[in-house]
Amino acid sequence: MNGNTKTKASLLMIYTGGTIGMKQDPADMTLKPFNFGQILEEVPELGKFAYRIDSFSFDPIIDSSDMEPSLWQAIASLIHEKYDEYDGFVVLHGTDTMSYSASALSFMLEGLTKPVIFTGSQLPIGMPRTDGKENLISAVEIAAEKDADGHARVPEVCICFDNMLMRGNRTTKVNADNFRAFRSENLPPLAEAGIQIKYNDALIRKPACWDGKPRLHLNLDTRVSILKIHPGITPQVVSDILCGEGTRAVILETYGSGNAPSRPWFIDMIRRAAGMGKILLNVTQCLAGSVDMNIYANGKILQDAGVSSGYDSTTESALAKLFFLLGETRDNEEAREMLDCNLRGEISK
Ligand code: ASP
Repeated sequence: MNGNTKTKASLLMIYTGGTIGMKQDPADMTLKPFNFGQILEEVPELGKFAYRIDSFSFDPIIDSSDMEPSLWQAIASLIHEKYDEYDGFVVLHGTDTMSYSASALSFMLEGLTKPVIFTGSQLPIGMPRTDGKENLISAVEIAAEKDADGHARVPEVCICFDNMLMRGNRTTKVNADNFRAFRSENLPPLAEAGIQIKYNDALIRKPACWDGKPRLHLNLDTRVSILKIHPGITPQVVSDILCGEGTRAVILETYGSGNAPSRPWFIDMIRRAAGMGKILLNVTQCLAGSVDMNIYANGKILQDAGVSSGYDSTTESALAKLFFLLGETRDNEEAREMLDCNLRGEISK
């Protein structure tokens, strides 16, 4: 861990990998990770805040397409361990799975009183047109921000990207090319960075109690699969995913407001999976809007067959929530009840 500068607020910057921490090697022009202890050299603007910024780099650092729950456990444990030493945490992460990680951390850290702000970039920080510097500077400023009572202004797990601060478990990566990589279609941004950072305080969740550490939940049960419905889907594929022995829950990514085929073989398989005690969770393939299985007959059939509503959840958040809830209890019925609750602002309910 490397320390620098004197203090107003103190922040821990956690580097997991991704494009943001790469620099072009002049020798062969390839992108290589740089030593994160030198972050102030790369982004001297951070020095102007006069915050104390310590950094911690995971080893090895990864392309976030290699992200695994074990690293979520390591990040959550690190934040928990260092919780009292810092006012906020900035997690540098590849964009590919950032929404999954931010969703997972939101469930794993219960009762947060300090910001955990994920950021990254589409272009490496050493490149002239990088978006990484702006993203990082905004993330740092937001992580350090306090309200008039001296409490963290945003005590949530968020993604800060392209001038927008979004609740992490509401985000989806939507663009592989341009700088607006993330969207939070079902919840407006918690803050927007223009000339000033404008906070949407009414939307920001506050803990029930400001004292003490968050509750750390490290048990994750990953026996969950995702079935994306599409025209032409075959009974074999549906049966493999829905009724496979290895899962406790299946997320159904359905059409529109939660519709799926009404053909008898499909509904029979849904009933079979429900009869096996599996949790079947309905989330929409649409980027915006909510599942409502009472609108169309095709949705109602699913509900009657034992499918639960995911409301306006993203798939990323639904997956993380199921990992978390199944890790909390062996009883699927209990998990199903919790699934229906809005635990971390992940659904509008
Ligand atoms: N593949 C990279 C990653 O997710 C892309 C990025 O960082 O934007 O780690």
